[in-house]
Amino acid sequence: MQKYAEAVCRSLAITIYGRSAAQHYFAAGERNMSEIANQPVLILLGPPGAGKGTQARRLEERFGLVQLSTGDLLRAAVAAGSPAGREAKAVMEAGGLVSDEIVLAILRERLSQPDVAGGVILDGFPRTTGQAEALDTLLAAEGRRVTGAISMEVDDAAMVARIAGRYTCAGCGEGYHDSFKQPKRAGICDACGGTEMKRRPDDTAETVAVRLEAYHSETAPLISYYAGQNLLHRVDAMGEIDAVTTDLISTIEGLRQPA
Ligand SMILES: [Zn+2]
Repeated sequence: MQKYAEAVCRSLAITIYGRSAAQHYFAAGERNMSEIANQPVLILLGPPGAGKGTQARRLEERFGLVQLSTGDLLRAAVAAGSPAGREAKAVMEAGGLVSDEIVLAILRERLSQPDVAGGVILDGFPRTTGQAEALDTLLAAEGRRVTGAISMEVDDAAMVARIAGRYTCAGCGEGYHDSFKQPKRAGICDACGGTEMKRRPDDTAETVAVRLEAYHSETAPLISYYAGQNLLHRVDAMGEIDAVTTDLISTIEGLRQPA
C-alpha cells in the first residue's frame, strides 16, 4: 500500500511540477527500496538502421532516462579506472573478450551512480538469454527489475531498400537516396553543388540482409524470453521518426502506471 501511495505521489508530482522539479523534491527524501524499484529499466531491441540511437536520445530527453550501451559502459569504466573497468582493461589488453561477469559488474557500478536515478535504457545488453537471466538476478539483488523490453520492429525488405539506397555528398555530407531523395540535378549536390557522392561499403543490399538475418537469429531467444514474462512491447519502427517516437512514448507511459 505504501509503495502504491508513493508511486501515485511521484506521478502526481511529475504531472504537476514537471519531471525535474519532482526529481528534486524526491531527491530530498531518502532513496528507499520502493523508490528504487520504481525506476524504469528498459531494454531496447532493434536491428541496425532501425533508428535506435535517435529514438533513445529522444526518450532520454522525454523521460529523464539514461541510455547505456555496452560499448559506452565499457569505455567509461575503463577510463574511470573502476574495479570492474580495470579488469576489463586487463582482458582487452591481453586481446581477450570481456566476459559477461565483467560487463555485469560494470553495469552494477553504473546503476549505482546518481545520474541514472531516473531510470535507464539498455542498448546492446543483454544479447543472450543467459545475460538476460544474469541481469534479472543483478537487479533483483537491488530490489529492481526489468520494467519493459521494447522491440523496434522492421520490415526486412523495406529496410534493405532503405539502407542500401542511401548515399551522401562527399563535400558537405548531405544525405540522398536512390528511391526517396534524389538531388534535383542528377549527380549534383543540392546543398553545395559538389559532384562527388559516396556510399558506405557495408550499405549494400546483401550486407544489410546479412546484418538483419544475424540480428533476428540473435534476438529471437530474447524476444521469447521477455514475451514469456509479459514484458515485451513491439513498436513499428518503419514509420516516420516522429510517429515512432510517439509510439515509444505511449508504450513507456503505459509501463509507468502504478501497479
Ligand atoms: Zn554537398
